[in-house]
Amino acid sequence: MSRARVLLIEDEPGLALTVGDRLEAEGYAAVIARDGERGLELARSRPAFDVVLLDVMLPGIDGFEVCRTLRREGVRTPILMLTARGEVRDRVTGLRLGADDYLVKPFESAELLARIEALLRRSSRDVRTPVRAFGDVEVDLDGMVVRRAGREVELTSLEYQLLVYMLENAGRVLPREELLQQVWGFQRAPRTRTVDVHVTWLRGKLEPERGAPRYIRTVRGQGYKLVLDP
Ligand code: CA
Repeated sequence: MSRARVLLIEDEPGLALTVGDRLEAEGYAAVIARDGERGLELARSRPAFDVVLLDVMLPGIDGFEVCRTLRREGVRTPILMLTARGEVRDRVTGLRLGADDYLVKPFESAELLARIEALLRRSSRDVRTPVRAFGDVEVDLDGMVVRRAGREVELTSLEYQLLVYMLENAGRVLPREELLQQVWGFQRAPRTRTVDVHVTWLRGKLEPERGAPRYIRTVRGQGYKLVLDP
């Protein structure tokens, strides 16, 4: 297997150099971008990087904006946000915008390497076919478009993320707490009702019969389960 390619978007020269060297020493091919614009340009380029390490505080376009833009454009490379502040708000913001994980600065390189490996494992397991279907619903993961009976369905960003998470975990019971954490990015669930409300909306848009869901099932006392082939 060729070396995994890591894009490091970091403006602090010392840190960029240290991390870049360490990654190379560990067998990764590391490319460094010193600002958000260059980072965006590289992150979009082909062949795609395997992982993006993205600093939040960057000159020009900040890390949140880079993350938001990439996800909006359908770039699905795993993103690990590097946050100096370590505030819950920053972590939640990053995860909400589509980052896969975050690491608070200063960090040990051993921890960074472990997180990168975890992201690589996760994305290699996740051999996604670009289009998933159930019933008359088609989800185009590359184009981030959902169609029902061939017609485009308007989903909010959260509805879409919830649907994609359920698709990635189809057939498995998903507790509300897990959905809150993975889709909304909350470490502690303030109100699991939020999940119920969004599930209801999704059903309204995608289920043949809202009152008798065939695909987005409730597992009493447990959570929800997406059944692709009922
Ligand atoms: Ca910075």
